[in-house]
Amino acid sequence: MKRLAILGSTGSIGQSTLSIVEQFPDRYQVASLAAGRNLDEAFAQTVRWRPSLVSLATEELAAQLAQRLKTAAILGVEVVHGTEGTVACATLPEVDFVVSAIVGVAGLEATHAAILAGKPIGLANKECMVAAGEILTAAARETQVPILPIDSEHNAVHQCLRVGQHREVKTIWLTASGGPFRQTPLADFAQITPEQALKHPTWVMGRRITIDSATMLNKGLEIIEACRLFNVPPAQVKVTVHPQSTVHSLVEYIDGSILAQISVTDMRLPILYALAYPERPASTLTFDLAALKHLDFEQPDFERFPCLRLAYEAAEKGGAHCIALNAADEIAVEAFLDRRIPFMGIPRTIERVLAATPEAHPATIAEVLASDREARQTARALLP
Ligand code: MG
Repeated sequence: MKRLAILGSTGSIGQSTLSIVEQFPDRYQVASLAAGRNLDEAFAQTVRWRPSLVSLATEELAAQLAQRLKTAAILGVEVVHGTEGTVACATLPEVDFVVSAIVGVAGLEATHAAILAGKPIGLANKECMVAAGEILTAAARETQVPILPIDSEHNAVHQCLRVGQHREVKTIWLTASGGPFRQTPLADFAQITPEQALKHPTWVMGRRITIDSATMLNKGLEIIEACRLFNVPPAQVKVTVHPQSTVHSLVEYIDGSILAQISVTDMRLPILYALAYPERPASTLTFDLAALKHLDFEQPDFERFPCLRLAYEAAEKGGAHCIALNAADEIAVEAFLDRRIPFMGIPRTIERVLAATPEAHPATIAEVLASDREARQTARALLP
């Protein structure tokens, strides 16, 4: 029986994780939930799963949840709040496995604390790896904690890497759906609206990651994530546009063999893989090979998707530039969704923030967070 801490339990990965727990009640139990700001969902999850510890974003929300639990006569659940609360959920002694699925750098401290506490991590939060990958992977090596990627591409790569040696890897190929504007002429990019950008062709996800898929910045973050998770330089990570999103990623070996991972586009599969690793439990997530008519792969267009170029540049510099890439994008995406800047204003903002970022390599989580705040300020100052 694995006892789970789910950080980001009310988000889409959190909810998918709980549906896996539901399907495998003899394998998994919920020990703690970091539920953010969604009070109703946090209450429903607490009633359903009876964790011993729940954390909400603020003191006020935590007090409201505690009151509702008391009214419903639900005892034995401690309610905490804030970053400290999230850290407490992640490091609870009875926890055997931590699902890190809080979007943004908000989950960074808790993920780091979990690694230091020796808890295996299922990592859905790519911003953690982008902003603090050097620190997190160094800590994981020291505590010998496995970090199992839940991001579908990296999960696929993790699976493909199990059949070869690190020195035998030539290229890690990350597949990209290309997003909703894969075939949109560059001239039309100026008129792209938030509504159009929020319609992803193959995956249903949160708002920021959906916009990041449309700009392909998401793939840029994944390039950096792959470099950190699999300890390879940026030149060894390449992107191929694969509109069917059927092959989740590939690993090319030096002998010429390419291994691909194919499955349904359902996040429950990478979650199950991470939770069960190194085992493979039987699941109902089957893929119908007969339905597979064709697989297309094309080169990404760096002109229409400048975020890819910016990500490679940040990946080469590492440290503060990777932090700035992620932070500037988050601010720019908010501004785009608020209709303050056009679609191509997102890469323009990131480029200007990167240019204003001095080369630095934060060595602690506090330094990472300071560098993140600085990049956000720079981005805000550039925006209308
Ligand atoms: Mg992904």
